Amino acid sequence: GRLIRLARANKRYSNGTLALRDMTLDVNRGEFISLLGPSGCGKSTALRMMAGLLEPSSGSVEWTAGAKGASEHTRDVSFVLQEPTLMPWASIFDNVYLPLRIAGVSRAKAADEVRSALALVGLSRFADVYPRELSGGMKMRASIARAMVTKPRLLLMDEPFAALDEMTRAKLNDDVLQLWSDLGLTVVFVTHNVWEAVYLSTRVVVMAARPGRVLEEIAIDGPQPRQ
Ligand code: ADP
Ligand code: ADP
Repeated sequence: GRLIRLARANKRYSNGTLALRDMTLDVNRGEFISLLGPSGCGKSTALRMMAGLLEPSSGSVEWTAGAKGASEHTRDVSFVLQEPTLMPWASIFDNVYLPLRIAGVSRAKAADEVRSALALVGLSRFADVYPRELSGGMKMRASIARAMVTKPRLLLMDEPFAALDEMTRAKLNDDVLQLWSDLGLTVVFVTHNVWEAVYLSTRVVVMAARPGRVLEEIAIDGPQPRQ
């Protein structure tokens, strides 16, 4: 089923920049979509609109669960950004634990879920460590664990691996694919790396800049969603 529909969504920022022109896209449950295009083509803008953090200037961005309001669905969206946004004063365990507690999950259940999330990303032995003690790749794993632990209906990733070396990046690509298929996630992944887009996705949405717009959509005969 469909999760989100963007219908001729335009975005003009208050300084006059037309960041996105007539973007039409359906995001279906279980897909792994890559938004591929050069810097400035509106990829982040599109992502923020899907998250409900930004309203289109015209056109629409609608979630299928019509009963849910905008403030409701934003809770079901997780973001992973290039800069790991871990809290430096909290252990890796607490970084993953706090979002669950804030979401109202009991202490015992939250602790269980943190342990399985850390196991999934290979950080079980680093629960008590602080972010500054981890490598870039490990910090990214912790960010992914934190994004997943609340079981979002949609995982948005904005050039998450751009700052990492090629080896780490390749390994994380495989890990994200594994998590996506194991957990049955729906992912929209922003990248300007064509190989990464093709490797990861069930569908690549190719964008161009000035103004940002969709050039074409390419279905990839690679990874397949579970159901
Ligand atoms: P306002 O509506 O208050 O003028 P904007 O929507 O223009 O704010 O900007 C919101 C945020 O985005 C600000 O923090 C601003 O610094 C930042 N920003 C402004 N221009 C750009 C740009 N070209 N690229 C990325 N971020 C920008
Ligand atoms: P991408 O993620 O593909 O690099 P963005 O969505 O960040 O593209 O930006 C698309 C265009 O909109 C760019 O020209 C950028 O400078 C501009 N832009 C992004 N955010 C803002 C903002 N808050 N205010 C004004 N212009 C912005």
